[in-house]
Amino acid sequence: MSTPETGFTGKLITCREIVGMIPDFLDGKLSGRQQEHFLEHIRNCRNCYEELETNYMVNRTINYLDQDSRAGGSFDFKPMFEKDLEEQEEKIVKNRKIRELRLVILACTLLLFLFLVLDVTGIFSITAFFG
Ligand SMILES: [Zn+2]
Repeated sequence: MSTPETGFTGKLITCREIVGMIPDFLDGKLSGRQQEHFLEHIRNCRNCYEELETNYMVNRTINYLDQDSRAGGSFDFKPMFEKDLEEQEEKIVKNRKIRELRLVILACTLLLFLFLVLDVTGIFSITAFFG
């Protein structure tokens, strides 16, 4: 028992956990937060990146073979893999921005509400500035 790191409760996720998450990632079963951690690790860890890449290729190949082979296409899944990864990352960045925007709107609303309350109660008359 020498691994000091914890799972999702902790900040750091071990390589073993990442590798364990690969099937769920490929099936699109990871939650937004999990996926974020997962991709972050993949980008910073060569070993896990290659592990995912290998799994991705196998996954794609199986899907490909399952399909009608007359459909054509190539077995070169490597560019596809990078593209998929980038798309997932873009989605995460977009979601993060939406989250941040929501927070800003919430903060503004609260601030406005606070001013209104102060104004109504006469503690701080903001309407005086415009009167
Ligand atoms: Zn790793």
